[in-house]
Order: sequence, then structure tokens, then C-alpha cells
Amino acid sequence: MASTLDILTSNGKSITVPSGLFINNEFVPSVTDSTIDVQNPWNDEKIGSISAAAVEDVNAAVKAASTAFSSGWRETPATVRSKLLLELATLVERDAEVLATIEAIDAGVLYGDSKNLNIPQAIDTLRYFGKLAGEPSGQLLDIPGGYANVLRQPYGVCAAIVPWNAPLMITIWKLAPALAAGNTIVIKTPEITPLYGQKLAQLIKEAGFPPGVVNIICGLGQVAGQALAEHMEVRKISFTGSGPTGRSILRAAANTNLKKVTLELGGKGASLVFADADLENALFWTSIGSTAHNGQVCALGSRIYVQSSIYDKFIQAFKARASSQTTSHGDPLNESTNKGPVVSAGQHKKILQYIDKGRDEGASLLFGGKALGKGNFVENTVFTDTREDMTIVKEEIFGPVAVIAKFDTEEEVIHKANDSEYGLSAALFTSDISLAHRVSQALEVGTVTVNCWGMLNANTPFGGVKQSGFGRDLGKEALEEWTTVKTVKHFLLGSSKL
Ligand code: NAD
Repeated sequence: MASTLDILTSNGKSITVPSGLFINNEFVPSVTDSTIDVQNPWNDEKIGSISAAAVEDVNAAVKAASTAFSSGWRETPATVRSKLLLELATLVERDAEVLATIEAIDAGVLYGDSKNLNIPQAIDTLRYFGKLAGEPSGQLLDIPGGYANVLRQPYGVCAAIVPWNAPLMITIWKLAPALAAGNTIVIKTPEITPLYGQKLAQLIKEAGFPPGVVNIICGLGQVAGQALAEHMEVRKISFTGSGPTGRSILRAAANTNLKKVTLELGGKGASLVFADADLENALFWTSIGSTAHNGQVCALGSRIYVQSSIYDKFIQAFKARASSQTTSHGDPLNESTNKGPVVSAGQHKKILQYIDKGRDEGASLLFGGKALGKGNFVENTVFTDTREDMTIVKEEIFGPVAVIAKFDTEEEVIHKANDSEYGLSAALFTSDISLAHRVSQALEVGTVTVNCWGMLNANTPFGGVKQSGFGRDLGKEALEEWTTVKTVKHFLLGSSKL
């Protein structure tokens, strides 16, 4: 296999990325010469092939991370780690257009969304943790006869397993706090959308990270992912993706070395629209919140609950808003496209099956409901008259499919919103500040947005409760997730205070 992948994009740009596994700051083929084909979800054409890690390659990546940790990185001053992260932020910013092009051709993310949302968020995250790395951590406590230091220390070799929906941003959510905390890391990129990782690896080397501190390997989940989850030298693993895979990683950790596991396993977000809400604002955010990136967003607000007195008006306005917007579906690289493909033919099929299920179970179709043209496109779809036990209300579809249902009382809507095994995020719309406080407290989720939706910020923790998983990305809490606590107690000789 060639050592680089040369890509000519539909808008005439040439991009070259290394095709090997990034281990010890070198790009190497798999020892078994295994490869993975990379496809463009817009036209299902093959973009090329990159190396796929076998178990032996995973072992080599972990060894590189382990050697890097013990032979210098663990003693590297926080100021140096900080500088490297800030340099990486500068390089990601410099190459934002290339990275956005890669996300468009590989993951079907609209070029503008990648360039203006995902990549700036990744840059903010690198800068946030870059600065945080240099800040004091730990505590100094008085104890009888002396004092105690509570130190936050790195785990050592860590791993991250990343999904395909916003791969660069989610990778940075894990990489930045892991390195800020002083760990070394092996990142397994998603086999459906691995190209961003090949480019990111180049930037990591250019930023000056020592060999082995960051290793980026693509590979099949059940081979490379599983090998990382089972690896005896990996002390912490952070995963974002589906529930079944999260459980499998947890089992692997339990069966091997009890590595610390953090899981972000998606959601089925509720958006609660109260009668006193600013209607235009609620329509704006619930529309975006139920269709962003074709619904392939874990914090999607796909269950919209509207108070009965404004329900009919809301439904009409929601439909009118959708039909007033011209949908231009096509190549996500084309800046006039406002609807890209879903990530794969498999995901396309799965979404359409959910839509059929919605019809079969008796929900009313407000609009959408079909494939859109040729290729992996699905119409934005909304069902009304849904019951809480319907599959489309219960399960995460990961497509542009939402349900709108009505409620009468605050108590009822809290019950409905919480009647889910997921607990990642919720949005609520009201102009009553007391109601906003009450309902925010009652919702069983990791994040509540009031009078808006989404809003990912580097300094605010993000993660779920219930079967949405545990642990947090982003915020100071994320830095803590990548450290372990050590207490050092000092007895002052001569003290009589014991
Ligand atoms: P997945 O869980 O199968 O894959 C996510 C990552 O885990 C990939 O890198 C994959 O290679 C890896 N993986 C798969 N099997 C593994 C194993 N046995 N051990 C270790 N790693 C393994 O998810 P997917 O196929 O990418 O998407 C399926 C569904 O997951 C989606 O339809 C959606 O519902 C959900 N999802 C959620 C999020 C989120 O943000 N929470 C993101 C993407 C997908």
C-alpha cells in the first residue's frame, strides 16, 4: 500500500494524508498489511484505503505510549504540555479548511458546519485545556499533627475510542484533557470516518509532541477497539458511541485490569415548550435541535413536548417553518448545500426503517418520511400524535426524525421527559424563571439548555446519566476524569497534635 493517500476533491482541491498507523510519531503499515476502505457518503465512491490496526499494532501503539510516559512525558512540566496543546490549536486553526474538507468528504458533515462549528469548538477545547494544564491542581489540607497534599496524577497510558458523527471534535474532547493531565494516549479513530485522524496525526507531529505521547490508529471496533479495551497496560479508556459497544468495553475492563472507563452513549433528548415561551425562539431552536447534522448528534432534541394551549399553533408554525426553507441536498463540500448525506448506506437504511416503524405503530406524519433523491439522503421527518411506548419515541434513531407530543402540566412533562433510559440532554423553553429553575432541577440529564439548544462550550462539562453513560468530556470535570487522586500525609516531627 502507498504510504500516502492522494485525494482530488469534487471542488478540485488536492489533499494528501498519510495512510499508515501513527505510532511513535511515524506512519507505519499494519504488521498484517490490513487496510480499511474509506468511502465518500455523498456518492458512495471509494476515496482510498488506509491501514487498519491488528492486535499486534495495538500492542505496539500501547508500548509506544507506555515508553513515552515512563521515559520523560510524566516529568514534562505542565508549562510544556500547555505550550504543545496551544501550538496544536494554532495548527488546527491554520489547517481548518483542509480538516473541514476532510470531514465533508469522509463523514458527510456540511463543509460550513465543520469549518464554522466543529473545528472552532475543537480549537477552543485545545486552548481551554492548554491553559488549564498550567494551572495549579490538588489541595493542601490541615490534618492533626501536620498536613496532607491531595495530588491529581495522570493514569499513564490511556485510550480513546471515537465515533463517526463529529470525529475531530470528539477526539479533541478526549485528547486535550488527557494530555493536559500528563497522560499518554492511543486513539482509535472510527473505521467509517478515519481520514481526519490521519491529518490530525501530522499536526501532532508538527506541533512537537514527543514520539509515543499521542498514537492514532484506525481499525475495526471488534479488533483494534476490543484490543484496547482489554489491554492490561491501558489504565483508562474514554468512549463515545453506541450503548452495546459501551457495555462491551465495560465488560472488557472488568475482565482484565479494571481500567477506569468513561462512557458517552447517546441520548433521546426532550425539548419542553411551555405556553409562555417566546414562540419564534422555541421554533428556531427546536427545528435546529431536531435536524442538526441530519440528526446524527447525540444531544439531539428529538422528542418535542408542547403545552396543549399552544400545541396546534406550534405544529402549524413548525411545519410552515420547515416548508419555507429550501432544502438543497447534495455534495457537502458545495457551500450552497444545506443538507448533506447521512454517514453511510447502512445508517440511511436504519433511519428509513425507523420511519416505517413510526407509521406502523400509528404515529401521524407531519412532514417528511422518505429518502431524498438518490444516495444517502433522508427528508427531515416529524411525527405527531405519538405515544410514549412507540419505538420512535423510545429509541435513539440518529437521523433527522423527531416527534412532537402535547402535555398539560409541568408535572406531566417532567414525567414524560424523564421516561427514558437515556439521560444526556434536554432543552426547555419558557419565560418563567422559577419554572425554568424547577424543571431544570427535575430533569434527569447531564445538560439542560434553557431557551436554546446545543451550546457546547469548552468550559462546561458534557456527559450523561442513566444509560447515556457516565463521566464527563469538557470543563474542569473532564480534567479530573483523566487524573487519579493521591493523598500524601506529612506528620510534622515534634508535633503533639495527634
Ligand atoms: P459504535 O459504538 O459501533 O462505534 C463507535 C466506536 O466504537 C467506533 O470507533 C468503533 O470502531 C468502536 N467499536 C465498535 N465495536 C467495538 C468493540 N467491541 N470494542 C471497542 N470498540 C468498538 O457506534 P457506531 O457504529 O459508530 O454507531 C452506531 C450507533 O451508535 C449510532 O446509530 C448511534 O445511535 C450511536 N452513536 C452515538 C454517538 C454519540 O455521540 N453518543 C455517536 C455515534 C454513534
